[in-house]
Amino acid sequence: MIDPFGRRISYLRVSVTDRCDLRCVYCMAEDMTFLPKAQILTLEELDRLCGAFIGLGVERIRLTGGEPLVRRDVMRLVRSLGERIGAQGKQGGGLRELTLTTNGTQLTKHAEGLYAAGVRRINVSLDSLDPGRFKALTRWGDIEKTLDGIFAAKAAGLAVKINAVAMKGVNEDEYDRLIAWCGEHGFDLTLIETMPLGEISEDRTDQYLPLSLVRRRLRETWTLEETDYATGGPARYMVVKETGRRLGFITPMTHNFCESCNRVRLTCTGTLYMCLGQEDAADLRAVLRDPSVDEEGLRAAIEAAIARKPKGHDFVIDRRHNRPAVGRHMSVTGG
Ligand code: SAM
Ligand code: SF4
Repeated sequence: MIDPFGRRISYLRVSVTDRCDLRCVYCMAEDMTFLPKAQILTLEELDRLCGAFIGLGVERIRLTGGEPLVRRDVMRLVRSLGERIGAQGKQGGGLRELTLTTNGTQLTKHAEGLYAAGVRRINVSLDSLDPGRFKALTRWGDIEKTLDGIFAAKAAGLAVKINAVAMKGVNEDEYDRLIAWCGEHGFDLTLIETMPLGEISEDRTDQYLPLSLVRRRLRETWTLEETDYATGGPARYMVVKETGRRLGFITPMTHNFCESCNRVRLTCTGTLYMCLGQEDAADLRAVLRDPSVDEEGLRAAIEAAIARKPKGHDFVIDRRHNRPAVGRHMSVTGG
């Protein structure tokens, strides 16, 4: 699949649920209303759609959410997708990698199953190592549960990358500690700029911290070396010489990463977003549930959507009204 700007689309992010057992302040409002079940694709429908994407050249799938591991029986989908790893797609290629982004709360239960299904790397979100701060940021979280999950993943043989959202005045004094902690336990770390997605109760302009500034500050303590390592995701990596671990930066606000964008996002309702930062989307659920549409028709609908992939996002915070540029929450589109 090649989009109108010559970018090959090989990476699919699938949000398997909009629900979550946490309420991170930058991601969700505390009183979120979630989608009714009838609107949500079944695990079989998600599997069929993923199969169509793989047939069209998708090589990497990342399951996300909401919290992917709170969806009932999600491991059935993980196992079924895992079985496709290494099998050839119709246009050659085939699925090379299945990964997951999780808040870690259910990992003590599922880490071994993930590894057995063929998952080899996961991202776990952890914005703070301070129990009180972690609680304040996640509203409902307990850091011990997340840490137990992270160590269960490590014990199961999964490579763990920690994701931390960088927030001004909230966790900006913790990056040195996070780098050292990740180094100690053998985890890579990625810092993410906050993105203006969805209405939340805080003021986004107060939280925004440019990572260019963070990187300058980190260089006072750490030796950051260039590397050409890339995962197919949007992070730009450096190696921290002192720990030997990678440090990634996801900078949608300060650096426009759109020119190398290779991904599209599928929500749990079967809506395909061709860009995280734009409203245009394709309703694949209607296609999927139309009995007159066969596999060929489904593939044609996906190809028609890819042909509409926009050149890039346009994240701006509407400062005057303090409104996000994109109305839907990250938990809907999937991080
Ligand atoms: N629940 C899982 C988790 O927390 O990892 C997966 C879904 S979550 C939406 C995916 C990632 O998006 C997390 O790393 C989270 O920190 C990040 N995220 C959520 N809202 C964000 C925002 N407004 N700006 C930047 N990152 C955000
Ligand atoms: Fe849930 Fe992840 Fe959003 Fe936090 S960032 S509320 S864990 S979906």
